Amino acid sequence: MLRAPYLIVSVIAVALLAMTGCIRSNTDSVIRQVRPAIDKELLLEHVRILASDDFQGRRTGSDGGAMAADYVRNQMALIGLMAACSEDLTWPFTFESRRDQQQLTGSNVIGLIAGSAESTRVIVVSAHFDHLGMRGEEIFNGADDNASGTAAMLEISRYFSENPPRHSIIFAGFDAEEMGLRGASAFVESPCFSQFDISLEINMDMISRSDRSELYASGPLHYPALRTVIEDVSRPEDLSLLFGHDEPGSGSDDWTFASDHGPFHQVGIPFVYFGVEDHPGYHNPSDDFEDITPAFFHHAAEFVLNTVEAFDATLDSVLDSSLDDLPGAHE
Ligand SMILES: [Zn+2]
Repeated sequence: MLRAPYLIVSVIAVALLAMTGCIRSNTDSVIRQVRPAIDKELLLEHVRILASDDFQGRRTGSDGGAMAADYVRNQMALIGLMAACSEDLTWPFTFESRRDQQQLTGSNVIGLIAGSAESTRVIVVSAHFDHLGMRGEEIFNGADDNASGTAAMLEISRYFSENPPRHSIIFAGFDAEEMGLRGASAFVESPCFSQFDISLEINMDMISRSDRSELYASGPLHYPALRTVIEDVSRPEDLSLLFGHDEPGSGSDDWTFASDHGPFHQVGIPFVYFGVEDHPGYHNPSDDFEDITPAFFHHAAEFVLNTVEAFDATLDSVLDSSLDDLPGAHE
């Protein structure tokens, strides 16, 4: 019963915040020059809303899960993204639950910003918005996992809607990640996926909580040319960028199939996954908005944005020169 009025209020709140930002940047060029590319208040506000108890842990198939999909859809619509897979930004899919073989419906939310260059190559920037739901009275709010990545995906899309990229970028809010990467798998197996020349997947899952300000870029072990690009991206002094968690055979330390980049890698699409080490809130009811580390989160989101920009500038040369020769590279 809370759903419709709550969503309207929250969408208006974030829309107003966004408008305030526009007015400020248009009226004061000095502020515009020094203003970070991602507005920290907007970034945090998405997480505060998505990880609030009203969303009941955003489990796929639940009312809270539908609220989360609606929220992502409405934000993408306000930012001005085009639908990529159907007439609407919301792209439903069905799958069989592994736990009880029930048919469930998930809702990916997929938007596109068209590129300005001739290249047909497309970059995907993704984050899953679903989480674990409730167990008894306990709500798993999933602030870091993965309201954080969802918020960054939305704000990165806002940046590119104002600063058009060379390559087209698909922004994907995936559903049912927690049930086994089901939204990403459905997308990779869909006719929508095959109609695009998808050449790179950048996935964010848990990027807001690190006491040591450590962000991992995982995946370049499989696609070494990507590492050089990432290493050249400027980053805030207090952000430690680490590579790793992509060594085959290292058990749960290998994150290659730990989130939505997995299905892309399976069909040979180069990927970079951004995330933090597990923390006490991981898959616990204590993964709350109050426990994220806001300065680190903002810097991590800015760094991912800078990385997407760097790949947008270099994608064709990077892929043509080295990736096409790799075993497992996209054919
Ligand atoms: Zn996650």
